[in-house]
Amino acid sequence: MKRPYVMKQDGKYEIKVRICAGMLDGSQFAALREIADNFGSGKIHLTVRQEVLLFDIEESHVDEALKKLEEVGLRGGSAGPRVRNIVCCVGERCKNCVQNVTGLAEDLDKKYGELELPGAVKIAIGGCPFPCTRPYFNDIGIIGRAYPIVDVEKCDGCGKCVESCLMNAITLDENMKAVINRKKCKMCGRGINTCPISAIYAEEKGFTVLVGGRGTWPAFKGETLAEMLEPEDVVPLVGKLLDYYKQNALPQEKRLRPFVKRIGIEKMRKEILGTEKPVGQRWREAKL
Ligand code: SF4
Ligand code: SF4
Repeated sequence: MKRPYVMKQDGKYEIKVRICAGMLDGSQFAALREIADNFGSGKIHLTVRQEVLLFDIEESHVDEALKKLEEVGLRGGSAGPRVRNIVCCVGERCKNCVQNVTGLAEDLDKKYGELELPGAVKIAIGGCPFPCTRPYFNDIGIIGRAYPIVDVEKCDGCGKCVESCLMNAITLDENMKAVINRKKCKMCGRGINTCPISAIYAEEKGFTVLVGGRGTWPAFKGETLAEMLEPEDVVPLVGKLLDYYKQNALPQEKRLRPFVKRIGIEKMRKEILGTEKPVGQRWREAKL
């Protein structure tokens, strides 16, 4: 059996199973347990990238293990120079979430999961700008955002949004109406989700797409490729970015970080988005 589905270790094999957005159903859970018990060491490791690692599988059982995974809609292949397992938060199940991110993770996995590339590309998605999944420190980070507006006629000055804002960006003015400081606001949507009478609403929702982050030492925050991108534009933009990396990477650029550093984010935006500024809407109008 050839890589990347299995890796030889002391004469035995490991299978790193892709678990898109870390979400399993009961039959998948049962199949993983069966493989671990019947063909492996009985142990299952949960990786930091929401994969499952099955250990110590005899060569003679590898095909059968892969077949069992396939039967429940799972597959190996989260290793080597390709798109790795796509990490995502619980999204819509979280009160802070401002976008449908689990659906986005599935779409990206269907389209680009395991795509062969010059190096490993790790993608993480978070439903808000205070993300649990560390998208700022992945090769590609995708973050949901919401641009809040206060309906001053409706606001009754209860102050709940003021308490909820982690950036201290909301205050009450002399008329006891909520006011948003745009310089401080991170467009996280917490004020929107907190207001009991929906006096704050999202005028616009979108995604920030970061590129070239790295989580290991030394850690680097990704640079902003696009801002307030429409949800339907994220998958095509990631496709363009992966293609751009594939076409232009030097042999030593095994991760997006050195690639982005050499090319420069402004040039990348220009060649991928058609503009040096990290805006989404304009790209949509120009390119789709
Ligand atoms: S990343 Fe944000 S939206 Fe997602 S689970 Fe964490 S707090 Fe909730
Ligand atoms: S939570 Fe709503 S009603 Fe209360 S101060 Fe904020 S915007 Fe006004």
